[in-house]
Amino acid sequence: MTDGTALATSARVGAAMAPEEARPGAGRQAMNAALQPTLAELSRPGRGGGKVPHPPADALARIPASALRSAPLALPELNEPEVVRHFVNLSHLNYSVDSGFYPLGSCTMKFNPKLNEWAARLPGFATLHPLAPDELAQGTLELMHELQEALAEISGMAAVTLQPAAGAQGELTGILMIRAYHAARGDVARTEVIVPDSSHGTNPATASMAGFRTVTVPSAADGGVDLAALKDALGPHTAAVMLTNPSTLGLFERRIVELLDAVHEAGALAYMDGANMNAVLGRFRPGAAGFDVMHFNLHKTFSTPHGGGGPGAGPVACNERLAPFLPAPLVVKAAPGSYRLERPEERASAIGRVRAYQGNVGVLVRAFAYIRAHGASGLREISDDAVLAANYLRQRVGQGYELPYAGPCKHEFVASGRALRQATGVRTLDVAKRLIDHGFHPPTIYFPLIVDECLLIEPTETESVETLDLFAEALLAILTEAHDHPERVKSAPTSAPVRRLDEASAARKPELRWRPMTGAGTPCPT
Ligand SMILES: *Cc1c(COP(=O)(O)O)cnc(C)c1O
Repeated sequence: MTDGTALATSARVGAAMAPEEARPGAGRQAMNAALQPTLAELSRPGRGGGKVPHPPADALARIPASALRSAPLALPELNEPEVVRHFVNLSHLNYSVDSGFYPLGSCTMKFNPKLNEWAARLPGFATLHPLAPDELAQGTLELMHELQEALAEISGMAAVTLQPAAGAQGELTGILMIRAYHAARGDVARTEVIVPDSSHGTNPATASMAGFRTVTVPSAADGGVDLAALKDALGPHTAAVMLTNPSTLGLFERRIVELLDAVHEAGALAYMDGANMNAVLGRFRPGAAGFDVMHFNLHKTFSTPHGGGGPGAGPVACNERLAPFLPAPLVVKAAPGSYRLERPEERASAIGRVRAYQGNVGVLVRAFAYIRAHGASGLREISDDAVLAANYLRQRVGQGYELPYAGPCKHEFVASGRALRQATGVRTLDVAKRLIDHGFHPPTIYFPLIVDECLLIEPTETESVETLDLFAEALLAILTEAHDHPERVKSAPTSAPVRRLDEASAARKPELRWRPMTGAGTPCPT
């Protein structure tokens, strides 16, 4: 318990301190009341905890001497309410979609219907053993089969695997399938994967993990892929091109047909990063447009709360050409009205498993419930509303901030604080920190890397116009403040449990465990 407790508080305190302060016990000054002491600091000898009611008088004597500790464990001693309050109070420090607007771009942090949580917790789904035989898992298999078909329909693809546990793993799965496809044709000279410079970091990481060299092509002035640069990079060494559409700039790639023709003419395959599908449901089907394979992020597009590190699901959809290479086992129809998993070796061309069991099934249940609750027209409406909200907010934020790309956006947009920095010295990081004082979670900043002083903002379809207005007004108020009192913006946040974090130290020298403090005034043994 000591380590788990320490994680929450100590990591924050460690991160909050300047490097020279970052030693055990020096965190007190960096705390305010909300960042309460650790359980070890609250501990009082002999209080609560670890009690066995009425142990037999000779309990200790019954334990072999070799199994007895020579000294008691250095565990904190507290009563139960103190422990409960400690954790509940810590949990209140979390910012969440349930407590406020969360405009992170490239993440789609939307409000997720509680109905889907109920569905995922139904005992038949939640308590099914992962090794249950098909006969005992018919309901779950049917749901998975229907979800495979729904995602194939939505993507315009032929077949779907639900196994990958996240978007990044879906990418790896898709690129491994492309590798297997080229290998099966004896085309072993294809050692490169092309990605645009606006791509998410997982794209080049995926290419490397699958054994390819990453070739980066620049974006054109309109934010789309530079077609000439792409054509130059394409060749007999190209295995695949990974495109995100709409892109991480929130822009739909207008030259998609030309781009995909060029990719296929070079003998390469086209991978679509589908993290932004919430912008184009029912409006754009990647398979019909000519993409060979793509992933979904069910936790972004089809409702699953995320942001705390998972779990997610990254199903992969592909066309007929790649279907033989999908990981096994898929869920297939057996006799009419019944379902089964593919048997081992049933499809020899499969790349194998990419994850234990059948993926994160709870996430699949939520996605299924979401898709069925909305239906085809409802899904299209979700995308239309997401695009409307983003364009509304873009127009309002554009009243003060630069908008580097002309024209309407899809589900998210980039703004730039470059002129603000030039005029006042206030940076996008400062604006983001000041937003916390206005009660808002900051948007994504400094990504995509190609926009100077970048803010990447995604409102999602679930926010009201009043919320969007309040957020835009906060951003514009900070702009005024930056001109009148730049030092106030630069020293934000003032209302949060911690002030500026030393992000370099937090990343490079994270303090992930509490170490006992020694000396007078501490409750802990040396
Ligand atoms: C979120 C995201 C990913 C990675 O997906 P995970 O589910 O977080 O692994 C990849 N590409 C883009 C564009 C994304 O937004």
